[in-house]
Amino acid sequence: MNRRDLLKALLVGAAGVVTGGRALRRIVEEGVSREPLPTDGQRVADAGDTEIVRRRLGSTDLEVSMFSFGAIKLPNIDEQEAADCLNLALDHGVNFIDTARNYRDSEEKIGKGIAHRRDEYYLATKSTARDAEGLEEELNTSLREMQTDYIDIYQLHTVSNQSAWEAVRAPGGAYEAALTAQEDGKIGHIGITVHRDRNVMREAITSGLFETIMLCYNPVDSEGVAAEILPLADEHDVGVIIMKALQGGALCPPEEARVEGLGGPDAVIAGSMRFVLGDPYVDTMLVGMEATEQVENNIAVAKAFEPLTDEERRELFDLIGELRPAMRYDQTCLRCGYCLPCPVEIDIPEALRAADMKRAYADDLQHIADEAWDDLEVHPEACIDCGVCKDRCPAGLEIPELLQEAVALYEE
Ligand code: SF4
Ligand code: SF4
Repeated sequence: MNRRDLLKALLVGAAGVVTGGRALRRIVEEGVSREPLPTDGQRVADAGDTEIVRRRLGSTDLEVSMFSFGAIKLPNIDEQEAADCLNLALDHGVNFIDTARNYRDSEEKIGKGIAHRRDEYYLATKSTARDAEGLEEELNTSLREMQTDYIDIYQLHTVSNQSAWEAVRAPGGAYEAALTAQEDGKIGHIGITVHRDRNVMREAITSGLFETIMLCYNPVDSEGVAAEILPLADEHDVGVIIMKALQGGALCPPEEARVEGLGGPDAVIAGSMRFVLGDPYVDTMLVGMEATEQVENNIAVAKAFEPLTDEERRELFDLIGELRPAMRYDQTCLRCGYCLPCPVEIDIPEALRAADMKRAYADDLQHIADEAWDDLEVHPEACIDCGVCKDRCPAGLEIPELLQEAVALYEE
């Protein structure tokens, strides 16, 4: 069963509606009714024999658990703790483990912790090498460290600007070595990971060179992939692996700010996971974990998964809006769109996103911010300061002022 069929089945069960891709997305956004989820410490046990849903990972045809283990945090814990976390995840049906050569000793910990269960999981790792020689060396190291002779998905890592994109595809570049490794049977599929640069995302997806793409995506959607990039990947049958579903930890509130709800011991974490999992263009979502308690809680959310209802989405954005700006990855706007419609038809979240990118991006990526600004159909200068948007904003933003600041930024 492919992802669309799975989600259809899930939603037909929940809502009694048969629907196709776009309509399906609308239903996910509109939400479906659901029973309250267990909220005590026995979440995994309460989920009983429920399986974590598996989805087809694009043209790889691998059926991967929609919730996956991101190994980025394993260097923070010792070998035994890492083994406990990994084995617990496998015990509960997580069958996709993702790491990277540059996540310090994570590969070694994967090898020591679960190499003996190699037939129970798909393994993905990544290399930042840009040339063939570098990639070959890193791949051989990864194989050795993870005590395996085969990596299911090997990814060219952080190809996040035009020069990196050109370097990996040049003669003698990293892609060439990945192809050779595939021919030699050392790797199964070739993927790519891209941050921020939507031009590279577009080119990677449409190039036909990659079977998976890893992207940042969460309720804040600070890299703006929801509207175009995720559907484009779906159209080209490129498997979508989501990283930073919790914005690299920025959507993990401090202990004192935690509120139970939305299916987990912290509503922002559980709600963010359900937000991402509820997107029909997402095949699997990685969450970096460094404690068995986190693994248990996240598995429980994944096992009991249902898309957020409208009311729950609103609750989630209200909660994220209450987090300090620093907890929102320095993003002030959450891109929730609740400020819309604007009477003069300014696309407020996109205008604020362009301004955030303009401030945050390095010189070689400024063109992305400029393109987003130029793409606005109504210039933010058209704001008549009516204030209706402010009343709707869960983050309590002074939107008219921010728009004027954005205009000034682009006039500098
Ligand atoms: S204050 Fe400006 S941006 Fe907000 S709704 Fe009114 S016109 Fe639109
Ligand atoms: S300005 Fe406020 S309401 Fe509008 S998208 Fe951003 S956070 Fe949401």
